[in-house]
Amino acid sequence: MSAVVTKAPETTTQPGLREGAFGNATSLSCRECGHLVALGPFYACPECFGPLEITYDFPQVTREEIEAGPRNIWRYKALLPVPTDIETSPNTEPGFTRLLEAKNLAAELGIAKLWVKDDSTNPTNSFKDRVVACALSAARELGATTFACPSTGNLANAVAAAGARAGIKTVVFIPSNLEQPKQVNSAIFTENLVAVDGNYDDVNKLASEIAGEEEGWAFVNVNVRPYYAEGSKTLGYEIAEQLGWRLPDQVVIPVASGSQLTKVDKAFQELIKLGLVEAKPYRIFGAQAEGCGPVATAYKAGVDAIRPVKPDTIAKSLAIGNPADGIYVLDIARRTGGAVEEVTDDEIREGIVLLARTEGIFTETAGGTTTAVTKKLVETGQLDPSLETVIINTGHGLKTLDSISGQVGPAATIAPSYDAFKATGL
Ligand SMILES: *Cc1c(COP(=O)(O)O)cnc(C)c1O
Ligand SMILES: [Zn+2]
Repeated sequence: MSAVVTKAPETTTQPGLREGAFGNATSLSCRECGHLVALGPFYACPECFGPLEITYDFPQVTREEIEAGPRNIWRYKALLPVPTDIETSPNTEPGFTRLLEAKNLAAELGIAKLWVKDDSTNPTNSFKDRVVACALSAARELGATTFACPSTGNLANAVAAAGARAGIKTVVFIPSNLEQPKQVNSAIFTENLVAVDGNYDDVNKLASEIAGEEEGWAFVNVNVRPYYAEGSKTLGYEIAEQLGWRLPDQVVIPVASGSQLTKVDKAFQELIKLGLVEAKPYRIFGAQAEGCGPVATAYKAGVDAIRPVKPDTIAKSLAIGNPADGIYVLDIARRTGGAVEEVTDDEIREGIVLLARTEGIFTETAGGTTTAVTKKLVETGQLDPSLETVIINTGHGLKTLDSISGQVGPAATIAPSYDAFKATGL
């Protein structure tokens, strides 16, 4: 399904697009029926309406070539649908974020070896800068004049910033009830922030409608989604490279649309096929909030169909009630021996504080979800604590301050005197 196509078709690119516009990508292929479509502004299969994804004919790529590349996602440009000169064109150059060994959190959770892949240090402080960098490249090659997205917050931040740097018009759409910091983090980069009275699924539907009507609009996660989604593979590549070119045993990944999780799996498969890491089994776990856990619900019920929900959770960046890649997440969790688990908003808050107090990492609600789910997976015996585990922190806590403002604060407010300090007992 999402595996690498080994027998590559002849490269097919839509007429009018420049040679090498999409690097080593050869075509788009339907994830449901395998139908092949020329590289171009397409995202749904003309035969069955299934989602399209990129297939490649990779050259022999070596660890040394990658290691000699820039310290950002473009070190993996040979494995992405981008032109070979991508480094020289303006973009926000995300990636190569730190992989921290989390000894304190490991001890707290009773896990032998644990790492945090910390994507909160990307240019706009979430993993979305990775996918947007790939989408921006595709949008330019496709001749788009407007760079746009429906967003749960972080995507809008990344699109607005990348568009500003590239000098392309941006228009970003968000649910109007979004956290204030996430609104400001978009509005600072673009004049065209549109708040929609509705939830993310409403915003997404509106975006699809606009994409169908307006010429030259590239909605990163709608009509250039196949190119956008490939950016998440770089998380998988980096984890493997930073572990010394090997795969971890277990990975815990937050799930909104589910795209990121499916692409980390695709990255691991590609690294094995390319001989860049040794083949080995690995388990992939998905993390959701109970207030928006349609994939976790389906996983637990043992069913294949995902029933959409109306989101009600503090994890707004994960609040997609009808996740486009949900069925593929289920498939990967089951195939790899992982699971999809969910936690309450209180557990999410505790997860945020736990990661901060053990590792000095301030995560947003999505990372609180991932941390809390990891704890729950250990407690319920679903995650093997003796195996090497990586959790992905996808965003920064300063964007969701409200969620923990009642949770942490001054231990005491005192007069500026030594006696008053002594009285606190600190
Ligand atoms: C968008 C987002 C996710 C999930 O991304 P999907 O690929 O849609 O599953 C996770 N964490 C954060 C912080 C996000 O902004
Ligand atoms: Zn199809």
